[in-house]
Amino acid sequence: MEGDKPTTVTCTVLGMDHTNFCYRVCSVCERTLPDNPSSLCKFCNFNSNTTSSSSNRLFRLLISIATDTKVKVVICFDRAARVFFGCSADDFFHFAKLHPFAATTASKVLQGQMFRMTLSKPKNGNAQHLRVSSVVPLSSSYRPTIETLREMYGVSIGS
Ligand SMILES: [Zn+2]
Repeated sequence: MEGDKPTTVTCTVLGMDHTNFCYRVCSVCERTLPDNPSSLCKFCNFNSNTTSSSSNRLFRLLISIATDTKVKVVICFDRAARVFFGCSADDFFHFAKLHPFAATTASKVLQGQMFRMTLSKPKNGNAQHLRVSSVVPLSSSYRPTIETLREMYGVSIGS
């Protein structure tokens, strides 16, 4: 019986949805912005005469995992997804712009890695997927995906 309590599982990552891994929020009020890259935050624009409103990207990632009994698709928001990537969504987005296959490669890098994840029911009862509230890599040789990618693409750390 699962109930509404968070459950902790040991699982293997089978893949991630690399076509849609982040979303934009206003850097001032953190409201979600539409996908259109030129749109600014309406709320902040209404409330100030400055044009300083800008946006940040946050991770929102669907991954499929296999536990010992089930395969399921779960959703990772920014804090959990940073454990996989080892960088912010903005950093990864810019890296992926320079290296167009970076997101596909990231999915391959994650495949087969083992984690202990805490999964919780979304507060919004209509949400489809369990939400990953914490992630702990199980391998002692675990490296965040961005480090592996930088090495593969020959980009030195810090450049
Ligand atoms: Zn705003």
